[in-house]
Amino acid sequence: MHETSSVLELRQLVRAARAGGDAVGLVPTMGALHAGHLRLAEVAGEENELVVMSIFVNPTQFGPHEDLARYPRDLDRDRRLAQDAGIDILFVPDVDAVYPGGADEQVVWIDPGPLAAHMEGASRPGHFRGVATVVAKLLNMALPDRAYFGQKDAQQALLVTRMVQDLAFPVELRVIPTVREPDGLALSSRNVYLTSEQRAQAVSLHAALQLARQMIASGERSSAHITAAMRALIGRDAPAGRIDYVEVADLATLVPLTGSVKADALIALAVSFGSTRLIDNLIVRFQGDEVQFS
Ligand code: AMP
Repeated sequence: MHETSSVLELRQLVRAARAGGDAVGLVPTMGALHAGHLRLAEVAGEENELVVMSIFVNPTQFGPHEDLARYPRDLDRDRRLAQDAGIDILFVPDVDAVYPGGADEQVVWIDPGPLAAHMEGASRPGHFRGVATVVAKLLNMALPDRAYFGQKDAQQALLVTRMVQDLAFPVELRVIPTVREPDGLALSSRNVYLTSEQRAQAVSLHAALQLARQMIASGERSSAHITAAMRALIGRDAPAGRIDYVEVADLATLVPLTGSVKADALIALAVSFGSTRLIDNLIVRFQGDEVQFS
């Protein structure tokens, strides 16, 4: 595995690989790697000859009172995991390489538009402007054929998909299903913050989504009934959790479906345990008479 913090060197390596006919996959991460990240790397390895993983904790996607300073960082561990996962190039830029002169010097930003008005975007003002801008930068730095994102961050995946379409980035996006603990909790770098009591209760996010899935599978279509049942389950099973939102939204626009769930939908929720905020989601697709869940 080759490691670099230089944009110039990264571009040279990627250009040489592509000139030799190799396809290049990019896996953007903020480090603190877990099996979810490694699954993205695995799929990227199956689909490309050269896999680049970036590790960059992007300051501009954190709000002033969020966990930028205490976001888990362990580059030695990440390096070992990336190497074992078959990553070819580990790109670890410092803030100055991504934001020359510092993030405050950035003048031109990507406006994420109305997709950022809902869910995570409503709770975290400015978050998706930072995400869209840094993803655009990473795509321009690594020049990959394909880039890999997790469904765990469904709104991010949707937004980046739209950005790539709307701004004609020459890249194919791949969205990979959420990797979970055996009890259903979605893997997240932030899970390490949870106390054992919070960890036990955190499974209720997945349980609430499973309940929504059962309700829809057995014919329930009222989004109010579904979200009320999800909230009740979390209230019962996770007394230490504070619900930020539980929403059923149109999968294309993320506009909340307030009436009945008939079109493809994203059911998403955010719950905080102390200062640790967890998110999870379920995608519902209607195909003729069939309903598919992912
Ligand atoms: P992060 O380091 O949290 O920014 O995540 C980097 C990438 O890994 C994003 O595309 C995430 O959606 C994805 N990811 C994070 N957790 C998971 C998971 N449990 N399963 C699949 N992908 C994930």
